[in-house]
Amino acid sequence: MIDRSWKGKPGEIARGLYKIEIPTPFSVGPINLYLIEGEKLTLVDAGPLTKEAWNILSKGLGQYGYKISDIQQVILTHQHVDHCGLLEQIRKASGATTIAHPLAVPYIQLNEEFMVYHDQFFKDLYEECGVPKEYFTIIDEFHQELMEFSEPSQIDEVVGHEQTVPHLSEWKVLYTPGHTQSHIALYREEDRVLIAGDHIIKHVSSNAFIEPPQNQGSQRPMTLLQYRTSLGMCANKNIDIVFSAHGEAITNHQELILQRLHKNWDRGNRLRGFLQDGEKTAYELSRLLFPHLNHTVLPLTISETLGHLDLLTTQYQIGVTKKDGVLYYSL
Ligand SMILES: [Zn+2]
Repeated sequence: MIDRSWKGKPGEIARGLYKIEIPTPFSVGPINLYLIEGEKLTLVDAGPLTKEAWNILSKGLGQYGYKISDIQQVILTHQHVDHCGLLEQIRKASGATTIAHPLAVPYIQLNEEFMVYHDQFFKDLYEECGVPKEYFTIIDEFHQELMEFSEPSQIDEVVGHEQTVPHLSEWKVLYTPGHTQSHIALYREEDRVLIAGDHIIKHVSSNAFIEPPQNQGSQRPMTLLQYRTSLGMCANKNIDIVFSAHGEAITNHQELILQRLHKNWDRGNRLRGFLQDGEKTAYELSRLLFPHLNHTVLPLTISETLGHLDLLTTQYQIGVTKKDGVLYYSL
């Protein structure tokens, strides 16, 4: 249980922990950044690169008696632009040290070589999925969005599973891959608080985004399977309250995790139903699963579909064959 004897300062949501809600231009809605008072004043995630986000961050910090220049370190739960866009501006204004999982680093640096590899991976992936060529433009559009709402920055320190967060001795890193390969959550055992990033969100199920493998040429990670395993790990932890990067706090994490795990099988069973009248590509199945979503959200719908196909193929509930470079799934 939460320590009820603890009486916080105004706005304090747990001991030394504050929330700052920042608007984003994305359909996910506002993002919650968290401020932790510890050996170093730490900001968890950075918000998108917009003037509005900067101003509201500034105001939000002011509410708790701080300025942007007071931030001593920023830790990213993962590299998505709503989480890292303002990192460079904050770093420049405050001199803060930046911390993330090593797999976030290339996305934060945005170096040319990595981006070429990244784009080629998606081109190959979409070919395998049977995505019509005219929709491959989404790869460039995604790139443009990256450059509009974030800018290249640097990560000074990297952290991994069960490591203590630098200069926050009470907080431990939990490596929670799935939503991204780089995803981490922060856990304080003493009052059973989890800062979950996008790993667990109350009002929506997180997407287990397909990403290129760390080593070029190796198999792509099966992100939904990783995600489910990371959820299982968190279900097994003593957690009283989860503070997510989007939406409200969660006090029934085990129940919510079970719902998410069940939902994967519901979706898997729907996919098996679509295969009853013959083999299909991942793209065709994505159109059947999400008939109302258009190609602008292709990275999302393909990730969702492939993730569930991975789940079914590893359980030998469906088969897959490759013809002319395209994968066909069948019962
Ligand atoms: Zn995210």
